[in-house]
Amino acid sequence: MAAHVPGATQPEAGKKPPTGLIFFPAFDWAISPTHPEREERLLYTRDQIFEEGLMDLPEVTEYKPRLAEARDVARVHFCVPDVQAQVTEAHLIAAGSTLVLADALMKGDIKNGFALVRPPGHHSMRVVHGNRGFCNINNMAIMVEYLRSKYGLRRIAIVDTDVHHGDGTQDIFWHDPDVLFISFHQDGRTLYPGSGFVNEMGGPQALGRTLNVPLPPGTTDEGIHYVLDNLVLPVLEEFKPDLVVNSAGQDNHYTDPLANMRFSAQGYARLNEKLGPSLAVLEGGYAIETALPYVNTGIIQAMAGLDYSQVIEPDFIPGRFVQSQEMKRSIQETVNHLLSLWERRDEMVEEAKEQYGKFYRTKKRVFYDTDMINESQEETVRMCPDCLGYMMVGSQASRGYGRLSSAFGISIPIHACKSCQEDAREEYQEHRSDSKYDFVYLQDKPADRFRSYDARTRNERSC
Ligand SMILES: [Zn+2]
Ligand SMILES: [Zn+2]
Repeated sequence: MAAHVPGATQPEAGKKPPTGLIFFPAFDWAISPTHPEREERLLYTRDQIFEEGLMDLPEVTEYKPRLAEARDVARVHFCVPDVQAQVTEAHLIAAGSTLVLADALMKGDIKNGFALVRPPGHHSMRVVHGNRGFCNINNMAIMVEYLRSKYGLRRIAIVDTDVHHGDGTQDIFWHDPDVLFISFHQDGRTLYPGSGFVNEMGGPQALGRTLNVPLPPGTTDEGIHYVLDNLVLPVLEEFKPDLVVNSAGQDNHYTDPLANMRFSAQGYARLNEKLGPSLAVLEGGYAIETALPYVNTGIIQAMAGLDYSQVIEPDFIPGRFVQSQEMKRSIQETVNHLLSLWERRDEMVEEAKEQYGKFYRTKKRVFYDTDMINESQEETVRMCPDCLGYMMVGSQASRGYGRLSSAFGISIPIHACKSCQEDAREEYQEHRSDSKYDFVYLQDKPADRFRSYDARTRNERSC
């Protein structure tokens, strides 16, 4: 695809910008020394890329990472009690790396970019009480909101190709019809985080803008390319995003120790070539020697427009993995069902608007597997006829039998109407003086200003 990004500086005539890369293996951050989420994940990849001589080619250029600022995180998350408590320097560098590439893309210095960073992010939701699925903050969402705030991009399509459902990214953009989120992943009945079913379609004003494609364990390159050709690409064609970005998880690979899929490096590289994301951000992938070096090399070559046909795993035999007829049928049925939902999206939104009146309310529970935290949330969205309304979330977290903390966050979308902006700011003042919650937050995207209030010390901070 690789269309021109609105607002981006055009490169000089006749000059072909390269593909931008950032490596950040985060030496000082691991869940535990033997946990698969550790720095070796990227070191083998780095060796492979140097061995192939990719960094010497004019088609590829390497960038140095930088730290994301607290406000970049607060634009997306309600971190409880605050951003500093939820992130290490490694998290800020991983997120900051995506912003370096975002800037380079918008300046026309690169044609596309791949942030090979960790810790990953796609399981981090809007409210953050701790670590979920190896993630504290959502690098992809931080990049998307940065691009929208700084460069005025509006419609963005996120395609999540990690084997696990991108439940954090889904949660963050759930109510936003301008962000199309498509995740294909191993069926949640057989894999963490146990979500990502076809009936998870987005909030009432954004129905059909979240599309989940659960795939049977054992799905091969053929299955994934069926989904790409028959669902993802046609939907993108109709959605007409300003930008396509890819949450690139490499754990669909046939050697991954945490999942059961059968994708190959060639399958991944071809996927990237067809999708043509402007920016890709690494998510998971835990076969650090047998998959990541090959998959990542293939993806970099595909992004740079280089021949990737020689990137083959040492033990790969063509035709090794064949899908059963039953598997093929089940994937076709899922795709057909999602296409019919996509076609009905505007109708579904109209029906939902009539159904819910002035406010839409819902409750949900979130479990943090890494930190063993249970959270219960109550979400309220103003169903405004003139804009997307504002969104409020009340959250209580506990660990074991101990209460952890409670928080209330108010989020104003960047294009909210004047009256919604005023109402939301008033809600913040009211909740500040009401001591029901330990922490109160205001995510004021039109003003690009983020406030947090600690009810115990009566301190307010803003960034
Ligand atoms: Zn994953
Ligand atoms: Zn409004």
